Amino acid sequence: MDSHNTLDAIVIGAGSAGLSCAYKLDEGGSTFALISDTLGGRIDYDSTGKVNFGAYFVMSNYGNAAKLVSRRTRINPLSCRFHDGKGESFTTLSMHTLKRSPGFAAFGISMAQFMRHYSQFKKNCEVMSHREAMELDPFILRLYTEPASSFIARHHLGSVAEDYVSKFSYACTGADMDQITALDFCNVSQGLIVPIHRFEFDAEAHRKRLGDRFVEDSVVAHREENGLHIVTTASGREYVGKTVVFATPAVVTAQFLDVGDIRQSCQLYVEHVRGTIRKDLSAQDMNLFPFTSPIIFTAVQDDGTYLVYSREPEIDLAALFTEFELIQRREWEKAMYVTGRAYVEQQYGPTTFVAGDHNGLGLEPTAISGVYAANQILNAVGLHANRFLTSSANNEK
Ligand SMILES: Cc1cc2nc3c(=O)[nH]c(=O)nc-3n(C[C@H](O)[C@H](O)[C@H](O)COP(=O)(O)OP(=O)(O)OC[C@H]3O[C@@H](n4cnc5c(N)ncnc54)[C@H](O)[C@@H]3O)c2cc1C
Repeated sequence: MDSHNTLDAIVIGAGSAGLSCAYKLDEGGSTFALISDTLGGRIDYDSTGKVNFGAYFVMSNYGNAAKLVSRRTRINPLSCRFHDGKGESFTTLSMHTLKRSPGFAAFGISMAQFMRHYSQFKKNCEVMSHREAMELDPFILRLYTEPASSFIARHHLGSVAEDYVSKFSYACTGADMDQITALDFCNVSQGLIVPIHRFEFDAEAHRKRLGDRFVEDSVVAHREENGLHIVTTASGREYVGKTVVFATPAVVTAQFLDVGDIRQSCQLYVEHVRGTIRKDLSAQDMNLFPFTSPIIFTAVQDDGTYLVYSREPEIDLAALFTEFELIQRREWEKAMYVTGRAYVEQQYGPTTFVAGDHNGLGLEPTAISGVYAANQILNAVGLHANRFLTSSANNEK
């Protein structure tokens, strides 16, 4: 690619946000370079392409992220075992669950209400900023400003939350109910309502589709000159764009742009283990643990091996397996930006955009943030008349 060509956009980072942004720009006929040191970001397969150490599942209502991956094995919520962290456990289909029926009814009602609002909110977020979409719906805004624990109390979810939902939420966020927002809690809890699947991410197909517009390199500097963005990579190349999208993890984005405070990230450790799981943990797709346990969850893979997720670097695998061999291990120093109330805007000046999981986690919210940035760019460079974009929305930034 000729560094003297001025591109419509430079997209930095090829995770779910950057890829979704790139494909939307492509659809709109825009020229771009997608520069990233990895393809897939926190979708992270090992060299065999069979073990995913990053994002684990997609939900059936992931419309945008579904364009990046293909669904594989369905995860059966009826095949889960929930542990209290003190040696007691119960399965989804059990007397314990039956006794919680009134609590499950309350959970179902609150989630039905949430999903009605959230489905419209997601659509809005493709064409207006996350902040504008929240301000349009006080129900969603409230969820962003209150902790999950307060939502749980408000909806009388008590023991159902403690025994089941908070464990699933811990598996998705690595965090406790006081740390995460009610919006993240409700978002991930949809995984207990709608079908969820493990998925395949075909990196080669993405490379082929993007061609030389994908640049495997690390961005080391960004500056603005005469209204243009100049991005320098570790290999010393320069790219010039009319607009730029930082689709990088929050901590990286904050190095390039003054985005203010960012939410704190959790640490996760994923161990790939071959072994014989202990009897009280066997025959279940997933074993889910409470926040008091450093082990978050175990998940059996198609070949009978296991992934074990934890929030501490040293865990006792002998507590889970009678015999085992550790095949591989992956450390996520910054896994997900889930705690705190900081908020990152999606636009800084007329031509600088931010996408990613700064304000909400998961493949779908990040994909939507990428689509939004692309829609703004297509509008800004005059390639695409988006009827939802008003001049007031642009002027406000
Ligand atoms: C262990 C784990 C399990 C998860 N499970 C799920 C799940 O089951 N379902 C779900 O929906 N979500 C899950 N998530 C969350 C989800 O993976 C993230 O929210 C989402 O992938 C973030 O996408 P992103 O595009 O914002 O960032 P990323 O995927 O992190 O992409 C950022 C990209 O920027 C690149 N980059 C960084 N710095 C530079 C630089 N200087 N120059 C160029 N490129 C750079 C990176 O290489 C990367 O490609 C999980 C996350 C983890 C870590």
